[in-house]
Amino acid sequence: MANSKYEYVRSFEVEDEIMLPNIIIVRIDGRNFCRFSKFHEFEKPNDMKALELMNLCADAVLEKFPDIIFSYGFSDEYSFVLKKTTKFYQRRASKIHSLIVSFFTSVYVNKWKAQFPQKDLRYAPSFRSRVIGCASIEVLQSYLLWRQSECHLNNQYDTCFWQLIKSGKPENEAEEMLKGSLKQDRNELLYQSFNINYKKDIPEIFRQGTCSLRTVEDIVKYKEDGSAVKRCKRKFTRVYSENIASRRFWNNQLCLVKELGQFTEDLSKTKSEYVKSFQHESRLMPSTWIVVRIDGCHFHSFSDVHQFEKPNDAQALNLMNSCAAAVLEEFKDIVFAYGVSDEYR
Ligand code: ATP
Ligand code: MG
Ligand code: MG
Repeated sequence: MANSKYEYVRSFEVEDEIMLPNIIIVRIDGRNFCRFSKFHEFEKPNDMKALELMNLCADAVLEKFPDIIFSYGFSDEYSFVLKKTTKFYQRRASKIHSLIVSFFTSVYVNKWKAQFPQKDLRYAPSFRSRVIGCASIEVLQSYLLWRQSECHLNNQYDTCFWQLIKSGKPENEAEEMLKGSLKQDRNELLYQSFNINYKKDIPEIFRQGTCSLRTVEDIVKYKEDGSAVKRCKRKFTRVYSENIASRRFWNNQLCLVKELGQFTEDLSKTKSEYVKSFQHESRLMPSTWIVVRIDGCHFHSFSDVHQFEKPNDAQALNLMNSCAAAVLEEFKDIVFAYGVSDEYR
């Protein structure tokens, strides 16, 4: 398309570069996982295998996209933080988050059977994604504090809710009991009624969420003549930690400090203006025609590896078409779709 008469179509694409020095975060979240988790009979409030599946997908994302150096997830969501100076896809928001979420989702489907050998995946899950630009390291710190507080609040609430249900309370009564309750009240309820010490008895993965960080390790290799050479080996490490937004946690991780910067002070809460900016979603004007174009990433090598017949593999095209049909079935507002090769719009 470059330098061809069709180059003008580029002007149909949105201008959405996240300018430096903003730090790029991509957050993905399961779409209607309340239903998905019921349908697939997840253990409540926390299904360990489902969480592990999310974590495996996040590992695969880190492995695939080397510019991501930190990730944090709980429940059906994950946040991925890219290094400050990333030039990935010219820092274009739509490219970056669509790639990450589509890769995450296909790994989720791919790894389902290994994680749940006794359970069929009964319908295709989908995840939403968005980019959050953080203007400074302090904003990133606030973002992490906000997400981890959300993890804590949701998990503490769900732990109480499901204990009440398991003890025989109907759902509406359990909801009524927890309405307006404070953190302290819920801890008290767990302790008094169910002999559960929230901090001691609930595993940290449920209470605190999961972090993965990219680290660099020096390894020594020996040449044929016996002389030693130092090499850097990139790996990532999983960490469960209280207060990931604290200086104590963050500043101890060399790689995070190097690629993103240091936290200069501890925060007690996230400013509400920041939360508002994290939740901001831009909308199109009413009556704007919306065309979503998807295009396979590196499909040239994908088609080689999977031995597509050249120039056209009928089965691969059929697969694209049946995916498009499923999209039309799921999203009723889509009125027309047209596809060719590895793209659809
Ligand atoms: P939305 O599309 O707005 O995100 P949602 O139903 O996905 O809707 P969330 O607020 O994202 O709403 O909540 C995620 C839901 O998925 C919760 O109901 C949660 O209990 C369930 N869920 C996610 N992961 C697990 C898990 N590992 N074990 C049990 N339930 C889970
Ligand atoms: Mg969700
Ligand atoms: Mg969620």
